[in-house]
Amino acid sequence: MALTESEKQKLMTREEAAAYLRVTVQTLSKYIKQNWFRPKRLGERRVYFTQEDLDLYIQVRNIGAHVKRRLNKEIAIVKVIGEHVPLQRVAPKDSHIPSGCYVGQCPFHQEDGIFVVDPKAKAFACSSCGVRGDTYGFLALHQNMSYPQAVAHLAEQFAVNIFKEVS
Ligand SMILES: [Zn+2]
Repeated sequence: MALTESEKQKLMTREEAAAYLRVTVQTLSKYIKQNWFRPKRLGERRVYFTQEDLDLYIQVRNIGAHVKRRLNKEIAIVKVIGEHVPLQRVAPKDSHIPSGCYVGQCPFHQEDGIFVVDPKAKAFACSSCGVRGDTYGFLALHQNMSYPQAVAHLAEQFAVNIFKEVS
């Protein structure tokens, strides 16, 4: 995705982004690994952040715990992932996978593996490629969004107005 000149001027370096979020560079690196951010890469190995993404992160971070609980209650991980991956409920006899879980073909790699979605834990994991995360992390990875964008997207889809309730 090519950036315009004015967009390029608003980009922040890793150090600037960390200062903006008031976290350490190490913490920011952890967020990148957890798919919270999709930094832009402009040549070489330097990464840059858009202010829009950082502001969205701050909004999501500031959401009160009660709103997060409501969001988690209303958004079913099986429904969200099931829109992209055909899922089957695990038979009770399938002892190596906890009952109540769903399995499907992992969308993040080609070979066989066991892609498990656990509605109780609100988490997914693939035994083969090692990808794992929660509902928002799945959508972020699958739809090439940042984690906060995925939170905002699902909140909108499920008509939960999270940003008005920021305490
Ligand atoms: Zn996989």
